[in-house]
Amino acid sequence: MKILIVLAHPEPKSMNGALFTTAIETLQAAGHEVKTSNLYAMRFNPVSDSSNFTRLQNATFFKQQLEEMHATETGSFAYDVDQEQEKVEWCDLMIWQFPLWWFSVPGILKGWVDRVFAMGRFYGAGKYYEQGIFSGKKALLSLTTGGEEGAYLKDGFNGDIINMLKPIHRGIFGFTGWSVLHPHIVYGPARLSPEAREAELNKWKKRLLQAVDEQPIEVGTY
Ligand SMILES: Cc1cc2nc3c(=O)[nH]c(=O)nc-3n(C[C@H](O)[C@H](O)[C@H](O)COP(=O)(O)OP(=O)(O)OC[C@H]3O[C@@H](n4cnc5c(N)ncnc54)[C@H](O)[C@@H]3O)c2cc1C
Repeated sequence: MKILIVLAHPEPKSMNGALFTTAIETLQAAGHEVKTSNLYAMRFNPVSDSSNFTRLQNATFFKQQLEEMHATETGSFAYDVDQEQEKVEWCDLMIWQFPLWWFSVPGILKGWVDRVFAMGRFYGAGKYYEQGIFSGKKALLSLTTGGEEGAYLKDGFNGDIINMLKPIHRGIFGFTGWSVLHPHIVYGPARLSPEAREAELNKWKKRLLQAVDEQPIEVGTY
């Protein structure tokens, strides 16, 4: 299987860094092809504007989605955007590895989506949801939190984490056609002992080996 892993964490020695490295090693050892986008290490520019394109259809009024359709027709996405689009198009399974920041993804990852998931190339003209361009491909969120698991239950301090992830699961993945796998969550790694963190990495290895054959979850009805 062709697998893309996107990492959004500024510290390679973090738990997210360890989960990222574990995923690459585990999947490659199992015979999968792996590509990565380590966004901070790449110094990926998350600011979405006219620099997404090598030339503009309308240089006097910037309208991103119109420029995206034009760039799809004329092959005029900026090199850094095009490289990421090619990786997303290449993979059968896409994994995002990130710490939960403000109940969401870090800004660098949101900016990656804003620039890379372009109208025309990734969605539009009736290509949404079940008819989406990435229909048949799978997407998996792997995240860590600061809070403990109990805080993320339905009646917990912060509320249900699955609901929290809906804008990503439904609004980004579902909208563009991906089948969504159940998220993999390490709760409060900073509160765990080194042994418990090691156990989490082993749990992740096992999950990864099953993930390629897992059935997707329903993201439209919760
Ligand atoms: C802007 C911002 C917003 C935030 N918003 C939220 C929020 O909305 N909700 C929430 O719950 N939290 C939030 N947090 C907290 C954040 O989610 C957690 O700090 C983060 O998920 C922890 O993951 P980490 O990879 O940074 O862990 P780290 O703190 O880097 O890792 C924990 C420990 O694991 C150790 N480690 C690394 N590799 C290994 C290894 N191979 N084996 C064993 N141990 C290892 C590290 O040395 C470290 O001591 C926020 C934080 C920020 C900065």
